[in-house]
Amino acid sequence: RTPLTVLRGELEGLLREPGFNADQRDRLGSLLEEIQRLSHIVERLLTLSRLDAGEAQVEWVTFDLGELVSSVADQLSLLAKDKGITLTCSAASRVHVRGDRTRFKQVVVNLLDNALKYTPEQGRITLTVSARPNEAWLEVADDGVGIPASALPHVFDRFYRVDPARAPADGGAGLGLAIVKSICSAHGGHIQVQSQPGGGSRFLVRLPL
Ligand code: ATP
Ligand code: MG
Repeated sequence: RTPLTVLRGELEGLLREPGFNADQRDRLGSLLEEIQRLSHIVERLLTLSRLDAGEAQVEWVTFDLGELVSSVADQLSLLAKDKGITLTCSAASRVHVRGDRTRFKQVVVNLLDNALKYTPEQGRITLTVSARPNEAWLEVADDGVGIPASALPHVFDRFYRVDPARAPADGGAGLGLAIVKSICSAHGGHIQVQSQPGGGSRFLVRLPL
């Protein structure tokens, strides 16, 4: 039990009690949402410090990157559909990489989460997995809002967000790409980005085979 789970439990208990009016209930509900956001941030910070401590190698296995990416695309396809976004996944099979599969799933989820968040309705997102000489490539491309050149060098920094007002309600903390970068490094890989304001973004992860 962390202080945050205690807080959450207490608030949930309060919300079950009769006697609050609608306005008070709303305010308690908002508090609960903020606590959930805070828990999410704390979880992500813990993930980062574990990665910093070199704990990523604990579950080192060989897995099929194409299969992993296809399954994440399947899992998030409903979110894309809700936004009218066309999500295409073209993953070569038998692109076997070595690493922590759960951590790597986080890479795909975080990149796809961004693509979905920063691409307006009716946009397009493409996931591609391919085997290159000595490398596995994962590309996540979207035709969304893009990133200004001045911001590009910072997007992998902890807590950096291009425009915090751009996606106010999403609860993002600017940690997703920092986690992606740490996981890629822990796997001996790299991540790079190409983007233009209004011209979409393309993130490329290169892993040693
Ligand atoms: P979190 O991932 O912690 O929920 P976040 O999405 O804001 O929050 P990151 O994933 O680290 O944080 O991304 C950092 C910033 O880079 C974002 O705030 C956004 O401005 C920009 N960014 C990331 N991916 C994209 C993208 N696909 N298109 C446009 N901008 C992007
Ligand atoms: Mg993000």
